[in-house]
Amino acid sequence: MADMTLVRHLIGGEWVGDPAVERRNPFDDSPVAVIAQGDAVVVDQAVASAADAQRGWADRPAPARGAVLLDAAELLRSRQRDVAADLVREEGKTLAEAMGEVRRAIDVLRFFGSLGWRPSGEVLPSGTPSTMVYTRREPLGVVGLITPWNFPIAIPAWKMAPALVSGNTVVIKPAELTPLSVHHLVSALVDAGLPAGVVNIVNGQGSVVGEALCAHRDVAAVSFTGSTAVGEHIRGVVQARRGRVQLEMGGKNALVVLDDADAMVAAQLAAAGGFGLTGQACTATSRAIVTPGVYEEFVAALTAAAAAISLGDGLADGVGMGPVVSDDQLDTDLKALQQARADGTVSGGERAGVRLLHPAVVTGLDHDHPVATDEVFGPVITVLPAANLNEAIDAVNHSAYGLTAGICTRSLASAQHFANRVQAGVVKVNRPTTGLDLNVPFGGVKQSSSNTFREQGATALDFYTWSKSVYLGHDL
Ligand code: NDP
Repeated sequence: MADMTLVRHLIGGEWVGDPAVERRNPFDDSPVAVIAQGDAVVVDQAVASAADAQRGWADRPAPARGAVLLDAAELLRSRQRDVAADLVREEGKTLAEAMGEVRRAIDVLRFFGSLGWRPSGEVLPSGTPSTMVYTRREPLGVVGLITPWNFPIAIPAWKMAPALVSGNTVVIKPAELTPLSVHHLVSALVDAGLPAGVVNIVNGQGSVVGEALCAHRDVAAVSFTGSTAVGEHIRGVVQARRGRVQLEMGGKNALVVLDDADAMVAAQLAAAGGFGLTGQACTATSRAIVTPGVYEEFVAALTAAAAAISLGDGLADGVGMGPVVSDDQLDTDLKALQQARADGTVSGGERAGVRLLHPAVVTGLDHDHPVATDEVFGPVITVLPAANLNEAIDAVNHSAYGLTAGICTRSLASAQHFANRVQAGVVKVNRPTTGLDLNVPFGGVKQSSSNTFREQGATALDFYTWSKSVYLGHDL
């Protein structure tokens, strides 16, 4: 890949727009890409192009639509290392993490490509003689996708693939910090034969491009992943014009550790969930809620696990954690650590380079402290005490968010009680709060999600389609 890639918009099959804004590597500020900046006019062109292409794309048999995704998967597979290296350069995660993420995008394309062959409705008995009743899933039309920087290729893939195989056309606005990964994903689709106009990209600012996309009357639906504040704003804009909206937003995910758990194993799970991906995952372990019998041992083991993580350039061998993505995010992390130091104890959390930050373990805070309640989105785990399982469940649920929740225990009864009572879209027993299978419905409750349509797995197709019932009399 060239050192400096030009990232343009894609409209009607043409790469357009003069690249204007530079994206630099969060590790060392070396230049990565120059990006075209769109506005409402460019959004208008993109939506018109998507609308023109939609009927022809929807008229293709679903297996033929799926075949394009399957071919794109193979192309992305052949480019995996280069695409992953660019992802590291623009976002900062380690190469191993980026390879895994690109692999996820490939598998998502394969999964939804294959779903082109799946039955897409059902045949129902009719109360009327000589009548057959069946349902069809119809595409919505043009859908808008707005995506964050932290999984810059996987999230666009898991929104785009179900949209496309269902017969929709797409306008995507990637996060400003990470447009190169979307460029690579869509390039694979284009090179696999995706017709012009079926996917359109408009780069630029969320407050300009994203806003125009949400407000556009020809955009039937908007699927958004990002912060709760922006998501709730988008909900208002899209619903005001009666559009369909799907929001996956922030989290304050907790891992409960009970006395009967192995403290060392639990600490490894917490570290994987809280410090992997530099803590910049919506499913990251942000709180560890620990019962008294194992508390001291757990804190010691987690602190040791944090101290053992080597920081550096995500592309370098042996690096366990890359930089924080941006100065803004680093500022948020440092402010949280400052607050935590003022009211409790912090182990780690020192800066080690331009945007390198040692993972931090925070103790001595109340459950109501802002560091224990607000999303940090950095490598910071707050350890909080709970007297027993029920108190731990109350503490988990004492959150505005409800994305993932985990528990470490050897007791099946405790695990099941936890799974039944906890307010979270995903529950993990003896597994990190991060890490999802692509075939399993994913989404949150409370302020983590619009909690209407789930993403991922075959369930994801529901958001991108509507159901039509057909009564077929055959006695004319
Ligand atoms: P933001 O909410 O800041 O941005 C998300 C996207 O929305 C970006 O493309 C952004 O553009 C765009 N945007 C910003 N303002 C508007 C607007 N007014 N109208 C339309 N679009 C707009 O989130 P981040 O990118 O900072 O991502 C981190 C957040 O994402 C965290 O809160 C995290 O928890 C959440 N997240 C949730 C996941 C989930 O599945 N629940 C998964 C991953 C992340 P721009 O880049 O130009 O600002």
